[in-house]
Amino acid sequence: MIDLEARLAELDAQGLLRRRRTLESAQGAHVTVDGRAYLSFASNDYLGLAAHPVIAAAARAAAAEYGAGAGAAHLLTGHHVLHHRLEQALAEFVGLPTALLFSTGYMANLGVVTALVGRNGAVFADKLNHASLVDAAVLSRADHHRYRHNDLAHLENLLRDSPAKDKLIATDAVFSMDGDLASVPELLALAEKYDAWLYLDDAHGFGVLGAEGRGILEYARLSTLDPRLIYLATLGKAAGVSGAFVAGSEALVEWLVNKARTYIYTTATPPMLAAAVSASLRLIAGEPERRQRLAALIARLKDGVAGLPWSLMPSDTPIQPLSVGDNHEALRLAEGLKAQGILLPAIRPPTVPEGSARLRISLSAGHTEADIDRLLTALGTLA
Ligand code: PMP
Repeated sequence: MIDLEARLAELDAQGLLRRRRTLESAQGAHVTVDGRAYLSFASNDYLGLAAHPVIAAAARAAAAEYGAGAGAAHLLTGHHVLHHRLEQALAEFVGLPTALLFSTGYMANLGVVTALVGRNGAVFADKLNHASLVDAAVLSRADHHRYRHNDLAHLENLLRDSPAKDKLIATDAVFSMDGDLASVPELLALAEKYDAWLYLDDAHGFGVLGAEGRGILEYARLSTLDPRLIYLATLGKAAGVSGAFVAGSEALVEWLVNKARTYIYTTATPPMLAAAVSASLRLIAGEPERRQRLAALIARLKDGVAGLPWSLMPSDTPIQPLSVGDNHEALRLAEGLKAQGILLPAIRPPTVPEGSARLRISLSAGHTEADIDRLLTALGTLA
């Protein structure tokens, strides 16, 4: 049996021990955590919708009419008309034929990958993909090839050498700890050349990328009718609620309904959350000023950091990581900011590669310019 206490002490000594904080307010740019008020750069609430009153009201109204729980899996009696309407609205929004809701992005990734490739297949995955895509590939029992981050030549070598019949290329569209983007048109060309699926996890692009917020497909101007393209977005980040959806061809969605185990063997998400996401989708589409504000805040942060001893990693998304390197130094900075009332956690291995600890600044349309200036001033005092 492993000695858990000794292992935990070891993690602590390496500066890798994680502890939870408790949020006592609504999620947002200004929060109360463990009894103290903070300016937060630590959520994925990119559009400032997590606590939007219109979304909360939609959830309340649906709960009043339909109750709190779905009560069954989708293939029993849990598939509600509110889920169904939301799936149609999401498919239309991203410009793909059909969409399927999952309870979380993690579950969607496990379900889709295992439904499409098995023991005789191969998954080709960017080295920096989210943990849920790594786990999905492992669970599928397919050969798991990891190509160097955004290295298309490396990917092509692996594709060319693979004897597998069923191939799937999987990538974060926006890399969650780096904020940079996958080269989507080039990936699609490789998928075509080697007859592979292209699975895009747009957890951090949906609602954010593109003038209309339709995510990576809009940003990359993809012809969205390619049947080998599978799109995933989560609904707990920019959309401010919870869950995820996969979008693609009719045949794909029908296959997933029949084969994706994380869709079949789990209780459907509460219908009130589907109502909340529907309300959120109307705000995402109807309030482009949220994205414009975000772009202005990103520019202001970049300008301000230019005068500091650390640099931002190359990113034009709301994920703006400040490179630090050493785990203990990243913790020191995070603690120093915390003492000044700013929440900006250090991201350390194994979430990111050894020696690349960073402060993951996450911007939101809920921030003001004064909030950015306050962060810059606080960083200045720690420099
Ligand atoms: N994919 C990516 C790229 C993510 O960043 C995340 C969430 N951190 C997920 C999937 C999982 O989504 P969810 O939180 O809905 O399980």
